[in-house]
Amino acid sequence: MALLQISEPGMSPEPHQRRLAVGIDLGTTNSLVAAVRSSLPEVLEDEHRHALLPSVVAYGNDERITVGAEAAARAIADPHNTIVSVKRFMGRGIDDARRHRTAYRFTDAPGMVRIQTRAGDKSPVEVSSEILKVLRRRAEMSLGGELYGAVITVPAYFDDAQRQATKDAARLAGIEVLRLLNEPTAAAIAYGLDNGTEGRVVVFDLGGGTFDVSVLHLSRGVFEVVATGGDSALGGDDFDRRIVEWALRETGLVQAAEPDPIGSALSAGSLSAADLRAMTVEARRAKEALSDSTLTTFSCPLSDSSAVRLPLARERFDAITADLVSRTITVVRRTLRDARIDATDAGSVVLVGGATRMPATRAAVASFFGRPALSNIDPDRVVAIGAAMQANLLAGNRREGDDWLLLDVIPLSLGLETMGGLVEKIVPRNSTIPVARAQEFTTFRDGQTALAIHVVQGERELVSDCRSLARFELRGIPPMSAGAARIRVSFQVDADGLLSVTACEQSSGVKASVAVRPSYGLSDDEIANMLQQSFSSASADRDARALREQQVEADRLYEATRSALDVDADLLTESERAVVESLLARLRETRLGTDTDAIRHAVDALARGTEHFASRRMDRAISKALAGRRIDQID
Ligand code: ADP
Ligand code: MG
Repeated sequence: MALLQISEPGMSPEPHQRRLAVGIDLGTTNSLVAAVRSSLPEVLEDEHRHALLPSVVAYGNDERITVGAEAAARAIADPHNTIVSVKRFMGRGIDDARRHRTAYRFTDAPGMVRIQTRAGDKSPVEVSSEILKVLRRRAEMSLGGELYGAVITVPAYFDDAQRQATKDAARLAGIEVLRLLNEPTAAAIAYGLDNGTEGRVVVFDLGGGTFDVSVLHLSRGVFEVVATGGDSALGGDDFDRRIVEWALRETGLVQAAEPDPIGSALSAGSLSAADLRAMTVEARRAKEALSDSTLTTFSCPLSDSSAVRLPLARERFDAITADLVSRTITVVRRTLRDARIDATDAGSVVLVGGATRMPATRAAVASFFGRPALSNIDPDRVVAIGAAMQANLLAGNRREGDDWLLLDVIPLSLGLETMGGLVEKIVPRNSTIPVARAQEFTTFRDGQTALAIHVVQGERELVSDCRSLARFELRGIPPMSAGAARIRVSFQVDADGLLSVTACEQSSGVKASVAVRPSYGLSDDEIANMLQQSFSSASADRDARALREQQVEADRLYEATRSALDVDADLLTESERAVVESLLARLRETRLGTDTDAIRHAVDALARGTEHFASRRMDRAISKALAGRRIDQID
């Protein structure tokens, strides 16, 4: 079964019991909150009827923290204390953070970088939580009650640390995270693509500063991310910059041939930082205006009380940004190649991100795929809307017919290392999460009191070919003979992909457990690679597995026979003992080689050659057990 039911069909809560659940798109440039009201998803607005909250947090003089447009307006005057694009630093160390060109002063801290502000060192988690607090307040105001929880979206390529950081930010903001959802998956849900049965969806997301392409595979209502690609330094901001450069050249502030007009105007002193900021704001307005009309006027007062006024036609704008658009298409082509599909294999193409409103971008995508992309849902709201729909389902506000819940799947099988370096798969690849599976294991040696548990992920038969996720030990197993202990190992993967593994010895109840996050540490490329290898080495793996199994069996029997001889050697005559010893020697020798059949024969020979010994030991054990007991006590 690919889908899981979350509550019984027909058990819709009464209207007054509806739980208030929202979807939050925590974006690099803009953040939004949306909810399903009267069966329809809608983006929630603030008191000024603004839906988009600029993802900017300013730490003011008076300990006041401002978020959104008001904060963005201070960026120029107070760059160190006005944090923009904090999403880029989520879950990142100082080296990653420094790779971005920013004015911030960073402090190294374990796990995640800190940004120095006048209010102290702030972790990206704290900064993000300020944005989330505003969205939470907005939601509670407009829905009129306390939030039950939220689905928060993250880029598909976000790793474990980035996802955990996002959850932590929500917790700090007092928001219960129902689950994290991949942004492209949210967009696909908003378009109802999960109602289809099978097919591929390509999501083209051009935001303010980042570009992401995702290829999703839909199978029986479940989306799997097949490939992701993008450019973390390409977005709407680059188009704004092009307009500023164009304006500087047009007004003669810099030479027309100057390769870096902004840089040279700043260093020559002909452009102040404040003027640059003002021109960038105007460039953005002009760019957005050109999505709806073919002509606009770039008009910007400068600090020396002069002004720049230039007509800008869409054609001109398209010409000065054509290379940016073609860069997006190059990335799309590469991502499709990674996903091993053609443009014609894409069942649907979805446009996400405010910058996909630009007609030239739309046209380029349509011409690449040979048909227009889905864009009738506002591209800067579509992710929040999909998240709201998912949140509504998770909160249990289902209607008749909404019986199924879309869930992610485990990209690679999860299992345990067993004797001989073999993998025992417990949760198979593509299982829908959340999922729980358990299996019983036993001890290998007599009197074994501890068990080493090694959790691995991958499709291959040998541990050495899989990815190691975690190791832990179960201690305090009561001493028993080999094979008598019953140790139940359970795997549980929650809705966010967090895996917990618990081992419990059944008779004593001793327990040990570990939590790991299996899927997110791996990039999709790595997953594809591991799968590819498992397909191409399936038969070699089978042989290797057979050999390891035989070796394990050989070791087990060797050990068991040796320890039996230690205790009960007197049950054998001299010559019988010699036969057993020679069988043991032969087994030991073949065990060193790689001939599976030879080892099997040696194992069989030793097993047969010790049958009489085993039955005499059994007799002895029984007579010991009966000694001193009356016949009526035997049951
Ligand atoms: P993010 O996902 O990075 O938070 P958004 O999806 O909100 O960002 O996209 C922000 C970008 O979209 C900005 O560069 C903005 O100028 C651009 N944008 C918004 N509306 C339009 C429009 N009508 N035409 C062109 N670009 C637009
Ligand atoms: Mg976005």
